[in-house]
Amino acid sequence: MSRMFVDELSPGETVATSPTPCMHCVTPACAESCPVQAISVTSDGIVLSASLEKCIGCKNCTYACPFGIPRVDDVKKMMYKCDMCYDRTSKGTPPMCASVCPTDTIMFLEEDDLKNHSPKEVQYQWDFGGTTIETRTVIGLPDTKRNSFGFYDGEGVQS
Ligand code: SF4
Repeated sequence: MSRMFVDELSPGETVATSPTPCMHCVTPACAESCPVQAISVTSDGIVLSASLEKCIGCKNCTYACPFGIPRVDDVKKMMYKCDMCYDRTSKGTPPMCASVCPTDTIMFLEEDDLKNHSPKEVQYQWDFGGTTIETRTVIGLPDTKRNSFGFYDGEGVQS
């Protein structure tokens, strides 16, 4: 099971949403905290969802992940999260979310293509109280600020 989570930015105020992808950390806290080694990392750095056979649903990964990514199905007692549809992407096929997105909000791009779409700086290191987390998923940072409704305004002024 693989999931790309989509979060509401300001529920009740706006319909704006934002995808929340796994950051595929270089040193993934989810995998390191798993007591049964159910979360494996591929040779090319993709952090997979927990193995169905191994996961005991303890939720350690949900507490350890600094980005709040893993979810645990309490009934099935197993964790699930985005694993970049590794069965597809490892063969060059875009992940399902990008394949079905009608507005191309989610795109699956090579690094050079990404630079053509957005020449802005990307962020791949995050500071959590002095602990630096390095990720393989990068976030492009807009140079405008977000208004109170969750939209980026054209003036760069936060209202
Ligand atoms: S973002 Fe969370 S779930 Fe994804 S690899 Fe990092 S620690 Fe694991």
